[in-house]
Amino acid sequence: MGNIRLLPEEVANQVAAGEVVERPASVVKELVENSLDAQARRIEVLIRRGGISHIKIVDDGIGMDRDDALLCLERHATSKIRLGSDLAAIATLGFRGEALPSIASVSRFRLSTRPREAEEGTEILISGGKIEAVRAGGDAPGTQIEVRSLFYNLPARRKFLRTENTESSHIEHALHLQAIGHPAVAFTFLRDDRTVFQLPASADLSDRLRDLYGRELVEQLVIIPETDIDGIQVRGMIGKPGISRSSRTQQISFVNGRAVENPTINYALREGYHTALMRGQHPVTFLFLDMDPAAVDVNVHPAKREVRFRDPMHLREVLAGVIRRTLEATRGDWEKKFTPPVFTPPVNRSFVPLPATESFVKKAALLLPLVDSSGVNSTPVSPPPVPMQPPELEVPSPVSAPPPQFKILGVLGKLYILLESAEGLVLVDQHAAHERILFEQVQRSMETRGVASQRLLLPLTINVPPRDHAWLSQNLATLQRMGMGIEPFGQSAGDTTYKIDAIPGFVRTSDPLQLIRQLIDDLRSVTTQTSSLRLGEDVIAKTVCRHAVKANDLLHPEEQSQLIRDLMACDLPYCCPHGRPTLIQFSYPDLEKKFGRKV
Ligand code: ADP
Ligand code: MG
Repeated sequence: MGNIRLLPEEVANQVAAGEVVERPASVVKELVENSLDAQARRIEVLIRRGGISHIKIVDDGIGMDRDDALLCLERHATSKIRLGSDLAAIATLGFRGEALPSIASVSRFRLSTRPREAEEGTEILISGGKIEAVRAGGDAPGTQIEVRSLFYNLPARRKFLRTENTESSHIEHALHLQAIGHPAVAFTFLRDDRTVFQLPASADLSDRLRDLYGRELVEQLVIIPETDIDGIQVRGMIGKPGISRSSRTQQISFVNGRAVENPTINYALREGYHTALMRGQHPVTFLFLDMDPAAVDVNVHPAKREVRFRDPMHLREVLAGVIRRTLEATRGDWEKKFTPPVFTPPVNRSFVPLPATESFVKKAALLLPLVDSSGVNSTPVSPPPVPMQPPELEVPSPVSAPPPQFKILGVLGKLYILLESAEGLVLVDQHAAHERILFEQVQRSMETRGVASQRLLLPLTINVPPRDHAWLSQNLATLQRMGMGIEPFGQSAGDTTYKIDAIPGFVRTSDPLQLIRQLIDDLRSVTTQTSSLRLGEDVIAKTVCRHAVKANDLLHPEEQSQLIRDLMACDLPYCCPHGRPTLIQFSYPDLEKKFGRKV
């Protein structure tokens, strides 16, 4: 009885600090967000000893008058929202009114602030949440906050801090996020009196990325054409097909200007990249999503890094589509690389651009018959037959065929086709290239009329346990569209029997049952994360791989040349369906550098 008491303000603040201020990097994040909300054009961040002994943030934002400067240190004091209903549509980075009192309660804290047109400013000193001095201050307009001896009064928390280096790199990462999110704001970062970066303001994201990560990274990126679909605006820059990282540190997403971690976005990126991404790798993305603030809830966690979307499925669909189209548009770069040819001036013939049409891709199948992958002999494949011309296929006649835009120099190690292009030397992995060509070919026929089947001489049956049955029955239509003749055929002892009377035409196998079992296994593992639309593509990618030209398959020069042309006609020529590169280029500048002709 009479046991319950309200916590004193100082203690309540320390409790809140437990959530908001996990480490020095969270202090930096909160303070920089405040500066951004205060419309700063320049933000300077200085840290010492991993931010544990000293953090100082100086901005040139709107500043605060004396009353506000005192009030901002009270819990739940904020200028950013007023009513409960404002929570439904938050347009600022802050809104909880928690950061300043929390930070001030676990450090030695100094606030010096001055509105832009004011004669003088205000300076407030606080230790462990207790105000020690309030006086007139003479600093420049804007706001400065200094945080010393973080967690000095919370030894338990202090013990959890890592080395100064680790804490510094967390701070640097937090600053990267803010700097990328706001290229129009100039940022300076000093660590132990050394300038780590100094980023001038720019209207352009690519300038900011170049200043932070160097020119090389920017060259690996492609700009997302600004899109607005159903009020979801998408912009930013993402890695070209085949560019990836083993960690997520360069997979950065902003929602309404706030850096967020969100599984819906991550899935959408993965889905958008799909075959342009190597398994187990992560895309490089600097993605900006803007939408009606009412369509996202940011009031999920005190650190505000998590968000919830009102309609995540729709967002996922929109985003995956934008990413896919952006990547497919990189085809243009590829075509440019090979034109104009420096070495084969077209004689008496005007340049005819390569057709990127379906008929051209179909032609690949005619000129480059599937190589039986079981054969390990390395006798050259016989020269391709003169293409037969099925009535519906339009095969360009030799006279109208486009002049080659590359010169084949030879084959290295029975695997890499060496090409001379306008920009230098290109190595093409013939196996990966053939996989990409077959993949797109089958994918197209799946989208349009379904894949042709080959009937089995004798139908087979397979017994499927209830777990697999649930999965199979959901995905039956997709499997059928892939050319699989499969249908349920009764029950036996709890299991469901399926009859299989046809398999996809592009598959060569002597053991169809084994193929089905493998498919079920492979696919079950991908479908949890993959929409059913992508299911078929995974099947194709897996199957195609087994039937593409292998390393050691010697190709006739005609076939090599056709392979390259067909690759150029692909939507995503740069990488195989597993996201590995199909080609690597050594440009003349690269070579000159290597030979010491140029520095
Ligand atoms: P929140 O950002 O959620 O409102 P904070 O505790 O971080 O809560 O800040 C409290 C208030 O102090 C802000 O709403 C803002 O009015 C003011 N403030 C904080 N930092 C600055 C700054 N750098 N410049 C101007 N005003 C600031
Ligand atoms: Mg804040």
